[in-house]
Amino acid sequence: MTLAAALQDFAAIVGTENVFNSDQDRNAYADHFAQDPETHLPIAAVAPTSRDQVRDIVRVANRHKVALWPISRGKNFGYGGAAPVMKGSVVLDLSRLKAIDFDEANGVVLVEPGVSFFDLHDFLQARKAPYWLSVPGNSWGSVAGNALDRGVGYTPYGDHASRICGLEVVLPDGDLIRTGMGAMDGSPTWNLYRNGFGPGWDTMFCQSNFGVVTRLGLWLMPEPEALAGYDLEFDKPEDLGWAIDTIMPLRRSGLIQQSPSIGNWLRSAAVMTRREEWTSDKGPLSETVVSAIRKRFNIGWWSVQIRFYGPQEVVDASLRALDRAFDGKPLLSKKLARWKQGDGPEGSPMSGVPVSFPLANANWHGGRGGHIGYSPVLPPSGDLALKQFQRTYALYQKYEMDYHASFAMGERSLTNVNQILYNKDDAPMMARVDGMFRDLVADASAQRYGEYRTHIDYMELVASTYDFNDRALLRLNERVKQALDPNGIIAPGKSGIWTKGARS
Ligand SMILES: Cc1cc2nc3c(=O)[nH]c(=O)nc-3n(C[C@H](O)[C@H](O)[C@H](O)COP(=O)(O)OP(=O)(O)OC[C@H]3O[C@@H](n4cnc5c(N)ncnc54)[C@H](O)[C@@H]3O)c2cc1C
Repeated sequence: MTLAAALQDFAAIVGTENVFNSDQDRNAYADHFAQDPETHLPIAAVAPTSRDQVRDIVRVANRHKVALWPISRGKNFGYGGAAPVMKGSVVLDLSRLKAIDFDEANGVVLVEPGVSFFDLHDFLQARKAPYWLSVPGNSWGSVAGNALDRGVGYTPYGDHASRICGLEVVLPDGDLIRTGMGAMDGSPTWNLYRNGFGPGWDTMFCQSNFGVVTRLGLWLMPEPEALAGYDLEFDKPEDLGWAIDTIMPLRRSGLIQQSPSIGNWLRSAAVMTRREEWTSDKGPLSETVVSAIRKRFNIGWWSVQIRFYGPQEVVDASLRALDRAFDGKPLLSKKLARWKQGDGPEGSPMSGVPVSFPLANANWHGGRGGHIGYSPVLPPSGDLALKQFQRTYALYQKYEMDYHASFAMGERSLTNVNQILYNKDDAPMMARVDGMFRDLVADASAQRYGEYRTHIDYMELVASTYDFNDRALLRLNERVKQALDPNGIIAPGKSGIWTKGARS
């Protein structure tokens, strides 16, 4: 049998103990947040320890026409966890590749996929290296895997893919490339200068299935002398519009260098408490409950944390500029946060400290919890954000789900990150999720907004909304896929990209 023969050949490369194909193993690599994990159940997993083993595995997969789904640490909760788009794929688990090369003078790391945010944080701390990470809200995952999925964090280096500088990639035929200056053997600037010579290929391997990344260069933020900012609270849903219009000019001008994320009251409540503590009613949360939640956590309908980083006098002047921008505006409250070198750890993702407590929000409804992410991108306008909120909120009400969302302010865009929280043991609730998600995507698409990232269940759907000129970009992606991976062995279906005839 092809699969059995492939597993045997994989075992010859990595040892039988690193090929996993029991029911328990399959379950370990399933997407535990999924509406139905069976839809994307892998058939097995193989865990190499080196780039050369990855190359051998890819060659074997070609020989036996077995699909591989590469993961770095596989903690992509809300987007698919470790599970593949195509059921029956073999997970290529890269979590045992854990090398870190550190260029301390330039603040650059070259990491293998298995390096977690906690690993890298410990590594830098042990060396007392004056650099900060940028970490996602759930920092359990991989530095490389998160950047490759265009993940985000909360410091000025929070657009992780934009800090990638130089990749090493095993192509679907087993060939090995280095992008940018790495194309020159032994180049000392591989991880220092992004473009190299000729077309740039780094982003081609983000959210893609064109290769398996085995090393990733990433720039780290030099530890600033000081950090300061405000936690701002806003009283009413309608405050979203003017809040965004007040903050965006400072973001655009570069005064605010991180991407502030303005989110609603459920962000705190869902991490710290469970719904049953507030109400036993099934329908949408009443105003009384919302008020009680806000009172307990002393928060607004919306909250945002804005932080400045740099020399003390620059940070102080930036705070004054922020004060001026909000002067006379009806803020509910404003709380000052300050940190400077020599203080104890600031301790939050705002200073790149990895955390995992936000995972607790899966427990909001009780039972076996989970969520899917819905994250359309819109122009940076308060009016459009307010309309987006109102349309989306109405859909949450219609489907009787609890609104959990934020708007992350990029330099020229807003990403409306929604976590649709559910209890997988609540059958009536689960029956509503798919319809709601499809309505949300249709709603965004009607505004011509696309998702920046999506769950494996919906990659085909979201890809289909990118429809300019009869989906010309998807057609280009599939031409590239066909040329590089004619057997379709690397992550078939990722981002809606398939080889000829493979789309089911
Ligand atoms: C409560 C909560 C909060 C969250 N907050 C955030 C947040 O603030 N920001 C954020 O970005 N995410 C967030 N997430 C989503 C997710 O948990 C993180 O993005 C996480 O870092 C992704 O998992 P990972 O790093 O292990 O990547 P992986 O799961 O290993 O990889 C992600 C995807 O990239 C591809 N990939 C990975 N490695 C390779 C490789 N070497 N070669 C080719 N392709 C590869 C695979 O398709 C994989 O599915 C949150 C999730 C939860 C539950």
